[in-house]
Amino acid sequence: MAKGTIGVTTENIFPVIKQFLYSDHDIFVRELVANAVDATLKLKALASSGEFKGELGDLTIHVDVDNKKNILKITDRGIGMTEEEVDKYINQIAFSSAGEFLEKYKDQTGIIGHFGLGFYSSFMVSKKVTIESLSWKEGAQAVKWECNGDPEYKMGPCEKADRGTVITLYLDDDSKEFGEESRIGELLHKYCKFMPVPIAMGKKKEWKESKYVDTDEDNIINGTEPLWTRKPADLKDEDYMNFYHSLYPTLDDPMFYIHLNVDYPFNLTGILYFPKIKNQLEVSKNKIQLYCNQMFVTDSVEAIVPEFLTLLHGVIDSPDIPLNVSRSYLQSDANVKKISGYITKKVADRLEEIAKDHADDFQVKWDNLKLFIEYGMLTEEKFCERALKFALFKNCDGKYFKYDDYRKAIEAEQTDKDKKVVYLYASDVQAQFPYIEAARNKGYDVLLCDCPLDAHFVNLLENKLKDAKFVRVDADAIDRLIEKSEAPKFETTEEQQKALKETFEAILPTDYKYDIKMDNLGETAQPILITQSEFMRRYRDMAALGGGMNFYGELPESYTITVNAQNPVIKKLMGEEGVSALKADNETLRQLTDLALLSNNMLKGKNLSEFIKRSEALLLK
Ligand code: ADP
Repeated sequence: MAKGTIGVTTENIFPVIKQFLYSDHDIFVRELVANAVDATLKLKALASSGEFKGELGDLTIHVDVDNKKNILKITDRGIGMTEEEVDKYINQIAFSSAGEFLEKYKDQTGIIGHFGLGFYSSFMVSKKVTIESLSWKEGAQAVKWECNGDPEYKMGPCEKADRGTVITLYLDDDSKEFGEESRIGELLHKYCKFMPVPIAMGKKKEWKESKYVDTDEDNIINGTEPLWTRKPADLKDEDYMNFYHSLYPTLDDPMFYIHLNVDYPFNLTGILYFPKIKNQLEVSKNKIQLYCNQMFVTDSVEAIVPEFLTLLHGVIDSPDIPLNVSRSYLQSDANVKKISGYITKKVADRLEEIAKDHADDFQVKWDNLKLFIEYGMLTEEKFCERALKFALFKNCDGKYFKYDDYRKAIEAEQTDKDKKVVYLYASDVQAQFPYIEAARNKGYDVLLCDCPLDAHFVNLLENKLKDAKFVRVDADAIDRLIEKSEAPKFETTEEQQKALKETFEAILPTDYKYDIKMDNLGETAQPILITQSEFMRRYRDMAALGGGMNFYGELPESYTITVNAQNPVIKKLMGEEGVSALKADNETLRQLTDLALLSNNMLKGKNLSEFIKRSEALLLK
């Protein structure tokens, strides 16, 4: 055989290839099988244009391992290569592009799917690689190329009767795993399970005489026509569900799906599924698989779709997503931006359609959809504008409303003196029950906002909905939350205020900060009311979720204590004397304060046991 020195790069790149991406060594399988698929599709194209007139025959690609000799072989019956072509494509072009890729890779981490190394990725795991090829061209002479991991190669004619290419990898001692059927099977499943040409690994096995034996039939590992490449009109719901479960065998049924299909101004197909998200953001994330012409690229698509869409599951297949670039470049790529915009729009279209045509179903699914939609509204302006029309409110009675309908339902009762429509909400029906009840007694409705993002979300809604104000039911006395007219405030002198403060500070637990005042809340309202300002609480919650508001997170929890001057028990305690009659050592006042703390879940430890003892003593009297 003749000898030569590979390519244009004088530097020896093999040691670099070997070290390249230690954890991702396995991509060489995809690269080599993809080349075999390409060569096969090219031959099919030549056949359909009439240039190739021979028999196509069985085009199955074979992947064979020999774990004794540590050999991995990939055989195709595609177009093959002549000696000139091997020289051009392997010695020159492929070698220099692998060099270029590695050069580029040095400064850019996170190149999507690690494309670019191509054929030479085989040297990540091999001490020697050979190519034997017979071109489809009439009268072609078969060629053998051999290289043992330095820039020198051998090339010359060989015997090969069948058209196509055989790539043989003589595996490195530390890469013996790739000579095992189970390992290669796993990788073929990861990268090649939807490639468009049949791929066989060994033979189908049969259980015979208490062991598995090979049959004559090829063990095909891929489906060449995955669901997303087929026409939606030919498919049933069941097909989509089966496909979902084939992708994610351990996950529950998704709620619904979208079949994507666009060929202008870019090419994209795929199927996206809406999983039941409930309150777990992280669990659902990063399950979308990205393909390029049915070849698996990656399962992290954050650079391609808006953040909130990474909560969806499924596949996206597009040859128009640039792959030899870094993630940050991807995000600024014009095509990728169009793709991202298109997917967002499709998702909004689908949700709007279900909300309109299957309103009941949409309500049933709302609890599992809510987090996804709110996340999208918070992070994507365009999606938000669309979602305002189909998103739902759920109230504490478990009823659902579109935003517009809800507004119409509460407007008459819940508009305050400043012409703001006050949306009351609770985050926990059980914990905030007395406040919810007080609101209901006034004929008001209370929404349920129990989603982890709600602190941010009500902020967003206050900006998006006209003249809207959101307040949690326990933020103040109900008449002050929805103030219908300027009510006269209860007046206390400075001295009385001081006495009030001293009395209650001696009674209340020291874990929190308090703002103590006396006011008229009506005869039927509680004697002592504990509330937490909407503003402070909301910003504390937002800080807890993260988002640069740490200042609020560091503030101590503070509460407003309102003593109801109109409550009969308070009136009795004050008698003729007024505020100064309220003393810290008064059992009744202590009991009333503890009851208020108790209804806010704030009575704990020593205070709680004192309360119990005092209650028993009172019962004995
Ligand atoms: P890429 O596939 O990105 O072009 P590679 O380094 O993987 O880069 O391959 C270089 C070239 O070698 C291919 O473009 C193709 O022309 C040729 N080639 C590789 N493998 C095969 C094959 N199995 N059959 C025919 N030609 C091949």
